[in-house]
Amino acid sequence: MKVAFVGLGIMGKPMAKNLLKAGHELKVFDIVAASVAEAAGAGAAAASSAAEAAAGAEVTITMLPDGPDVEAAVLGPAGVLEGAAPGSIIVDMSSISPLSAQKVGRACQAKGVHFLDAPVSGGEPKAIDGSLAIMVGGEKEVFDKVSPLFQAMGSSHILTGPVGAGNVTKLANQIMVACNIAAMGEALVLATKAGLDPEVVFNAVKGGLAGSTVLNAKAPMAIARNFKPGFRIRLHQKDLRNALLAAESMKVSLPLTSTVQQMLMSLMNNGRGDLDHSAIVTFIEDMAQAEIRKPA
Ligand code: NAD
Repeated sequence: MKVAFVGLGIMGKPMAKNLLKAGHELKVFDIVAASVAEAAGAGAAAASSAAEAAAGAEVTITMLPDGPDVEAAVLGPAGVLEGAAPGSIIVDMSSISPLSAQKVGRACQAKGVHFLDAPVSGGEPKAIDGSLAIMVGGEKEVFDKVSPLFQAMGSSHILTGPVGAGNVTKLANQIMVACNIAAMGEALVLATKAGLDPEVVFNAVKGGLAGSTVLNAKAPMAIARNFKPGFRIRLHQKDLRNALLAAESMKVSLPLTSTVQQMLMSLMNNGRGDLDHSAIVTFIEDMAQAEIRKPA
């Protein structure tokens, strides 16, 4: 397929490379010229604006930080929608507010352009090996057309509802991950303060009901004091903020999400915004004046 890719950051770069590997024809744009040059070196054509990248493409993919960036790159001057032909498809794979996804979707529809919101889970390692979990909102017919591209980037892609549903699903994912890490932090701080070895406690509980993918991935990082990202605190704070905005628009209260979002905000103010989100545990450690560590 003729594909345009806009946003070549931590996630976008390896996703674009996997599309090239699968044999698709790729034109790329990013506001950082060095990223465009790197993708051009890997076989993509370079564009000098999002509109130029989208011109002639059957599908344009965007992978940008947040909703305002997507709105600027798609709806703004020299944006994707200026170049996209009626009947073509725009797929935003960023994690943004569902309200923002719906706004972009409506603007696309007004120009006869199809739109899907398709955020991902799995982080950089899964973006590199093409095994992302892709959660999609939009029409089934459009989803089916884009499926070969999703297959090149992910190990699963599931249509969860109309436009916006992809991001609602992603927010649900982010709520469960954040609250799990915070709960793990409270549990392991308590165990450590009681004089137990947190690694032994982790091994004792991981096969029971408290066991989870989050626990298996994040407890060893906390115990080893390794908070190298991974998925940054500041991106998770953005996701929970978007969850709270969406919840407010539906009059839903999310007390746990809002507490963890405040923890993330505080961690950003303490200079920890670029640490891995496993560092949520350090907020609880600070309050207890105790670190999750193996006993000396
Ligand atoms: P990133 O900051 O590394 O990349 C974003 C890219 O967008 C940058 O290269 C930036 O230059 C470019 N950009 C910004 N505005 C632009 C514009 N107007 N036009 C063209 N390019 C523009 O971010 P990332 O880690 O790749 O994350 C992208 C999205 O994926 C985010 O929404 C994030 O929440 C989500 N996500 C990230 C991870 C992860 O582990 N990093 C995992 C799952 C989902």
